[in-house]
Amino acid sequence: MPEVKFAAGLRRLRQPVMPLVSMLQFLYLTGPFATVAEVIGELPEPIETDRTVYDAPRTLLSAYLTILAGLERIKAGNAALCAVVDEAGQPLDPLTAAAALLQQEVLTAELEEINSLLCQPCGCTLCCVGPEADMTQEFFEIPLKPEETGLFPVPGHDSEASRARSSTDEDELTVDGLPFYRLSGPRLMHWRNGWSLILPRQSSCPGLDVASGRCRVYGARPQVCRRPQIFPYVVEPLGDGSETRRLRQSLLAVTDCPYVRALRDEIAEYAAACGLSLVLSRNKA
Ligand code: SF4
Ligand code: SF4
Repeated sequence: MPEVKFAAGLRRLRQPVMPLVSMLQFLYLTGPFATVAEVIGELPEPIETDRTVYDAPRTLLSAYLTILAGLERIKAGNAALCAVVDEAGQPLDPLTAAAALLQQEVLTAELEEINSLLCQPCGCTLCCVGPEADMTQEFFEIPLKPEETGLFPVPGHDSEASRARSSTDEDELTVDGLPFYRLSGPRLMHWRNGWSLILPRQSSCPGLDVASGRCRVYGARPQVCRRPQIFPYVVEPLGDGSETRRLRQSLLAVTDCPYVRALRDEIAEYAAACGLSLVLSRNKA
């Protein structure tokens, strides 16, 4: 059953691009090639690895050419765009740091496509609604870029007090004498760390057509809506507001999501093929 239901997403999940990226990186950085496109053009087809057979590796890699062209910067000896440290906080050498940042970008792009393909057949709206009455959370939050706030015609709140806090601070924001998550309906909030859409208990995103379960702004939906519920963490922010990243080499899959529950083995296989440790986590309780 999952084979049929998730056929399109499974095809992509079983053909992870990362092993090909590692191969390409080695060939390009050690060979006499001027450009990454030149190496891709000379790859044999098909390519067989110990896990799968790639019938069209050139086409698969070419879809990530804009990102992979970053290898040309690495070969030219230019440093990574930001520093990367290991778990002990020690800086990685520039080549390892740049390669890790590039892997993070490729995986983010690939998983955006895979997550969309796996979500579509689920008929699920869990990411688009606030907590149920019996859940412990008071609200769910959808982080937004400033230009994405215009998608949602709901009241907003932007004050000195909101900009001095984040939604999770213990010293929580009150508006008109109420905690921000008790205000009626969804609300756009401007926090210290940027904008977000707050979905209080038993509310739904204004973009959701509740009757059909469809997103009314699907083509323009916020970036964060494109990327659940399998997330790459080759590197992660340090969380101190700096540009520095920490090497983590993990893949996070959130088990609230029905396709994550249905495809645990396949997701574990994908993580292993990408050289990442799989972390399963439950977010909503
Ligand atoms: S914008 Fe669309 S995908 Fe994102 S939470 Fe709202 S309804 Fe869901
Ligand atoms: S929980 Fe999973 S299936 Fe449900 S809406 Fe979110 S990504 Fe889609």
